[in-house]
Amino acid sequence: MSESRLYKTGRIGLEHVGWLNALDGTTRNRYPRLDGDLSADVAVVGGGLLGTSLALHLAEMGVDVALLEAREIGFGASGRNAGHVATHIEGMRLPPGIRNLPGGGERYLELVRNGPTAVDQLIRRFAITCNYTPTGHIVLANRPSDVRHLEVEQRYWQTQGIAMELLDAAATATATGSSRFRAGLHERAGGRINSYAYTHGLAAAAASLGARVFTDSAVTAVRRSGARWSVTTRVGRVLAERVVACTNAYVTDAIPGMSRAFYPGIPGVVGFKPLPDAVADALVPSGATLSQRGIPAAIQKDVTGRFYFASIPALGRAGSAAPFARTLRAWLRRTFPQLAAQPLEVEAYWTGRTANTLDALPRIHELGPGFFAPIACNGLGITTCTQFGKVLAEAIHRDRYEELPVRLTAPARYRFRSLYDPAVSLMVSGVGLLGRLRGALA
Ligand SMILES: Cc1cc2nc3c(=O)[nH]c(=O)nc-3n(C[C@H](O)[C@H](O)[C@H](O)COP(=O)(O)OP(=O)(O)OC[C@H]3O[C@@H](n4cnc5c(N)ncnc54)[C@H](O)[C@@H]3O)c2cc1C
Repeated sequence: MSESRLYKTGRIGLEHVGWLNALDGTTRNRYPRLDGDLSADVAVVGGGLLGTSLALHLAEMGVDVALLEAREIGFGASGRNAGHVATHIEGMRLPPGIRNLPGGGERYLELVRNGPTAVDQLIRRFAITCNYTPTGHIVLANRPSDVRHLEVEQRYWQTQGIAMELLDAAATATATGSSRFRAGLHERAGGRINSYAYTHGLAAAAASLGARVFTDSAVTAVRRSGARWSVTTRVGRVLAERVVACTNAYVTDAIPGMSRAFYPGIPGVVGFKPLPDAVADALVPSGATLSQRGIPAAIQKDVTGRFYFASIPALGRAGSAAPFARTLRAWLRRTFPQLAAQPLEVEAYWTGRTANTLDALPRIHELGPGFFAPIACNGLGITTCTQFGKVLAEAIHRDRYEELPVRLTAPARYRFRSLYDPAVSLMVSGVGLLGRLRGALA
């Protein structure tokens, strides 16, 4: 596959992913390839956030689990996301379909609300080194109408049990190190993370508790074999009572019915080279991740002094870092005039794949007796996948699925899948243009 095609499909190699430049002591753990036959209670397919969280929680409950990853841990969206540990996607409200979920959606909402705490606790419990900083997120506003919008948003999230603090211009300047904004809406829960390192940390914790982790072990078929499932790779096989395919948008035809069960989205992230400490320390002293009304992007400065900017590439431009870099450079120079003399050079640019559903809610599909496929945690994967791994482990361990936050369903068959990402690109370009016209960026 050409490099441009790899970018376009969110499969560009992990060597392009900036998080690998910013690891703080975390080793890129290696695991063996599955070679030969073995038995396990549960076979987990896919070593992203969901698969590793599930394996970790199952292993902690004493369940015998084998995890099979096609490439390496974190190869999918989990190793390449934007690192925002969040309860919601800025600018979006909770999907209305929540109230149709079990318990009127309250169980799901509870997982969402507690997502940052769950991530925080796992990191502390297993001493995962992943540059985690629980410094929250600030939505910035620089026009009076945007300030009014933040007030409305604060009230809305309050009614959903998610607390946010409205910062005035002075407090926003203290938090960001910039006097450019009239206000900010600060959610103190959550923060920023090196998600590649976090996913590796979850896998290492699972392995330390007895989970057998295999990489370079693509599952080629899952078939019924008597009362068990036979999960085969090119050179090995796991016979398991239960199988959980955590392959999300990187799924292959080996997982029946799942290739068409979502709309694939292709967001991207650009990372700049680290700023000198003396410069970086004065920027965003609160450490919060940032976004700004009118700019459809998520911005963060990590603990190594690197800025990252995540958004949706412009139509047909997924292979080019230039549009992202231009926007981030312009935003940074406008927000922090002291950066005028800094070169702000691109260090890394990458894309990844997300699985999207029409109602923006995750699913747990049941593909056969004891064969499950959870998907579509979308932009909240760090918190939601961590949480779904835990609740699914509990359900499997107790063989009780009615307490899950979503119902077990059969996979849908989405049509016109190739139109989804271009449509989102066009929409995001439109919003970006509108933001510039309104003076959010210029
Ligand atoms: C660019 C980008 C930015 C994002 N930003 C954020 C963010 O800031 N905050 C946030 O919370 N979320 C974010 N997300 C979403 C988040 O990353 C995902 O929701 C989450 O990582 C999904 O995890 P997962 O384990 O379900 O799937 P993935 O991480 O995609 O893992 C699936 C794994 O399955 C493996 N696999 C597939 N087929 C097979 C097979 N046949 N055999 C074995 N293994 C197989 C793949 O190799 C892959 O490693 C972002 C996503 C992207 C792409």
